[in-house]
Amino acid sequence: MLPGIHASVNGGLVNALSTLHELGLVSGQIFTSNQQQWKGRPVTQEEEKEFRKDGSLTIISHASYLINLSSTRNRVPWLSAKALGEELIRMHSLGIRWLVMHPGAHLNAGEDQAIEKIAAGVRKTLAGAPFDTAILYENTAGQGTTLGYSFEQLDKLLALTDMPDRTGICFDTCHAFAAGYDLSSHEAVSRTMLEFDEVVGLEKIKVFHINDSKRELGCRVDRHARIGEGFIGLEPLQFLASMEVFNYIPGITETPGSDSDRAKDVFAVMKR
Ligand SMILES: [Zn+2]
Ligand SMILES: [Zn+2]
Repeated sequence: MLPGIHASVNGGLVNALSTLHELGLVSGQIFTSNQQQWKGRPVTQEEEKEFRKDGSLTIISHASYLINLSSTRNRVPWLSAKALGEELIRMHSLGIRWLVMHPGAHLNAGEDQAIEKIAAGVRKTLAGAPFDTAILYENTAGQGTTLGYSFEQLDKLLALTDMPDRTGICFDTCHAFAAGYDLSSHEAVSRTMLEFDEVVGLEKIKVFHINDSKRELGCRVDRHARIGEGFIGLEPLQFLASMEVFNYIPGITETPGSDSDRAKDVFAVMKR
């Protein structure tokens, strides 16, 4: 895997680029706009220039946590589609291809119906967005009514969106573990990845989130732990990161602490 971290954008997006270089990383994930606000901010010319001239880093964007295309609340699906479209335009300006998105929550309206709504919304948004942008559905812990906690749901989202060149999966190790997919030993990692391959296909994974879990297997609670301080452990994550099929896939830590803590975590997993 290509070592990366979720990088803070305090002091501006361009700061994240220098942080990643200083820490010796080759990939990174950022929020291009405040993740807790509907109102997005446009990219500045300076940011566009700095990001576009930096060819050595693979940068991934993470979508706002507010986005829920399947919401039953009045204006939320509309606001979500709008925010998603604006995000893809910002990414195009910055030369970022992949957007990681949590699929959404059905709020008790039923899972199947919500999955159809999400896929239809993503398909429509991508069709109207810059051609060089793409969306990754992230697997979730299954907290509350959130969707995307099972491999079957991820496969269904991809199939219904039906845009194979512009969609894929971001695989979060903490979320998978919390959703009941064991990753806490070599055998467990092999078994879980084999199951993912059979249901979805390993080639659909374009990004990994490498996080340990503060809570136990199947707890359905999303709490990231520092690598080696949770229920998954360092060794199984090292084993996953060493799998040849993932050689060129970014592995991003979203663990608690500072950017340099997250860099320590990712280098512990990917020692070479
Ligand atoms: Zn994640
Ligand atoms: Zn998480």
